[in-house]
Amino acid sequence: MKRAYNFNAGPAALPEWVLQEAKEHWLNFNDTGMSLMELSHRSADYEAVHNEAKELLTSLLSIPDNYEILFLQGGASLQFTMIPMNLLPKNQTAYYALTGIWSEKALKEASKLGNTAISISSKNENYSYIPNSEQIEVPKDAAYLHITSNNTIYGTQWSSYPTNVSVPLIADMSSDILSTPIDVSKFGLIYAGAQKNLGPSGVTVVIIRKDLIKEDAALPTMLSFHTHAKSNSLFNTPPTLAIYLLSLVLKWVKKQGGVEGIATINNEKAKHLYDVIDQSNGFYRGHAEETSRSKMNVTFTLQSENLTKAFLQEAKEAGFVGLNGHRSVGGCRASIYNAVPLEHVMELTKFMKEFQRKNQ
Ligand code: PMP
Repeated sequence: MKRAYNFNAGPAALPEWVLQEAKEHWLNFNDTGMSLMELSHRSADYEAVHNEAKELLTSLLSIPDNYEILFLQGGASLQFTMIPMNLLPKNQTAYYALTGIWSEKALKEASKLGNTAISISSKNENYSYIPNSEQIEVPKDAAYLHITSNNTIYGTQWSSYPTNVSVPLIADMSSDILSTPIDVSKFGLIYAGAQKNLGPSGVTVVIIRKDLIKEDAALPTMLSFHTHAKSNSLFNTPPTLAIYLLSLVLKWVKKQGGVEGIATINNEKAKHLYDVIDQSNGFYRGHAEETSRSKMNVTFTLQSENLTKAFLQEAKEAGFVGLNGHRSVGGCRASIYNAVPLEHVMELTKFMKEFQRKNQ
């Protein structure tokens, strides 16, 4: 069977090895006589999977001891609510860097729960760039600064993080976690829906510095980080299948040489696509400013609306999936997350060059 050229933005391509491995154990996991989905989440067999996923993530990202990993549900979107609920006291203000629609959505939810302010915004330029991180300043008594490390819709990505900020830095890394090495100790909290770089949808990973986890009896039980931290994310039934597949994706990342190995391949994939755009003499136009370009989502348009439409139609016929831009911005977007093979990116570059040759 030929695998599709899958450039979906999320849920997105998974490594073929992960799917094969899951298939291998589908009917009989670990000689239990049942599938993983049928195991009790209180069983030793499941708990081993759960804890292995945490250990693999800890080693891949060198997560220090003073951090807790949580496996939650509700997607990254529920974190837009849980974060201010848990980390924004009434007498403080949370700052948000606006670099796209997802950061706007995070801000909107926080504004319903407490005082918020915008630290910096690139909305005036249609979110085509990431503001200079060195220029970001936040009052010392702020609750936290929230950023979106990779803007899935606009195709921009922070290449360095704010250093002049003394309050906890919180990052939505839904679309670039594990794509490049990061220093976790610089963050108060990192969160990511799994369905781009970590696995299937259904689980959201939260990496939180332990001193930020506070018991607050006034919070709804399920929306408190403390509830999940004190029960190893087993307070209620976790999404066991999604966490199992996450553990397999993490094993696969390790086999690629860890995050460093993956980053090298990601750089190469992104370079091939941006080279086609840059060498097209304006036939393809990238949305993001060069220094803010994402290595995960490559966004571009063609010279006219009609040509863009024709490109997307022909690409679809040629077997490329998911190249339409987000419905809010249009154009084209190639999402090239960790699991998208280099060969598929090369096929796309070939297709783009050929389309240009025929249509200019
Ligand atoms: N943040 C970012 C950066 C995203 O790309 C997305 C989804 N595309 C979300 C948040 C929302 O994630 P979810 O659908 O898991 O709530």
